[in-house]
Formats: sequence, C-alpha cells, structure tokens
Amino acid sequence: MCPNKAITAGRPLYVIDPMKCTECVGAEDEPQCRVVCPAECIVANPDFAESKDELLAKYHQLHG
Ligand code: SF4
Repeated sequence: MCPNKAITAGRPLYVIDPMKCTECVGAEDEPQCRVVCPAECIVANPDFAESKDELLAKYHQLHG
C-alpha cells in the first residue's frame, strides 16, 4: 500500500518513517494510509512539515 515502504509493524503500534514518507506525493493523489485507516489516527507531524516540492524531491531520491 505505501509506495515508499515507510510503514513498519511496531509493538504495539505501526510506525511511519518520516525520512521515507512523502505523504504519497509523487505516487498518489492523497496519502493512501490515511485513506484506509479505519480509525483516522494518522495525523501529520508539524515538526516534519515539508513543502510539496520537498516531498517530491524526497520521492525521486527514494526511487532513483
Ligand atoms: S502518506 Fe503515503 S508515503 Fe506516507 S506513510 Fe502513508 S502511504 Fe506511505
């Protein structure tokens, strides 16, 4: 589901690696994990606020 493989199963919570998450910029129109989360528990971290250009650059860096 995650285009960047940014999500891993932790204990007790799943963890999103902010160095890999692009909020799905570059791959999808909206964050896919948020679309499928039944509890709406995935929220943006203001400490990692990035522009669309920065997110797209990260996406291209991850996918070469
Ligand atoms: S927003 Fe997209 S890139 Fe970020 S963790 Fe969710 S599915 Fe992965």
